[in-house]
Amino acid sequence: MRVTSQNSGTPPSPADNEPPAPAGASRAKRGLADTRRLWPPGVITVALDLRDQKSSALVVDAIREWAHNTPALQFRIVSGREGDIRISDDEGLKGDWSVIGTDADNVPLSEPTMHLDRNDDSKTFRATVLHEFGHALGLLHEHQNPEHTINWKKEAVYKAYASDNFPKELVYSQILELPVGDHLGVTTYDSKSVMHYAYPGYITHDGKGVDANNWLSDGDKAIARKLYRLTR
Ligand SMILES: [Zn+2]
Repeated sequence: MRVTSQNSGTPPSPADNEPPAPAGASRAKRGLADTRRLWPPGVITVALDLRDQKSSALVVDAIREWAHNTPALQFRIVSGREGDIRISDDEGLKGDWSVIGTDADNVPLSEPTMHLDRNDDSKTFRATVLHEFGHALGLLHEHQNPEHTINWKKEAVYKAYASDNFPKELVYSQILELPVGDHLGVTTYDSKSVMHYAYPGYITHDGKGVDANNWLSDGDKAIARKLYRLTR
């Protein structure tokens, strides 16, 4: 869940644990990336350990959408638990999360690097996969882009999101905190990014909410192409 830094050698914590949508919001969900955690050019094996064909097909479809925009990477998708990126919907785990980029290399091989909660709503599930796979590629939350123009009403943000499953520290680290450091690749703020949470207007001072983004925005495609161009 820490999106700002990761000491090498320490086990990575989940990059993310998406909060429940506050009342009145559509489901939560250009660019901000951690350039220290980008994959080198080449083939990445993605292992799917999912309950059924339908879920797998949606995950593959979402990965393809990213793959069209990451020319330096090829994704080899396999069934099972052995891969560089390991996606599970095991009901023994909770939340939608992924480690950031190559932090996956530090996750014990017996454990997933990404978890998806089972969801029968195909559109929402696919959008969640797009978001989490963005983290797996090294992207951070767009609403935490240092150039963002959101006027958070902070107390209202905590009230809307904080819960037993999503404590205040997570609300801060996943929503309000602005990462700093020269490892950050920052491009123009993009409220249409799949890496941006959706939220209702009442948790901002100017009353402007953001709708759920179910497809890669032009900004998402642009940053993916920049980070994973053929010669880097
Ligand atoms: Zn996220």
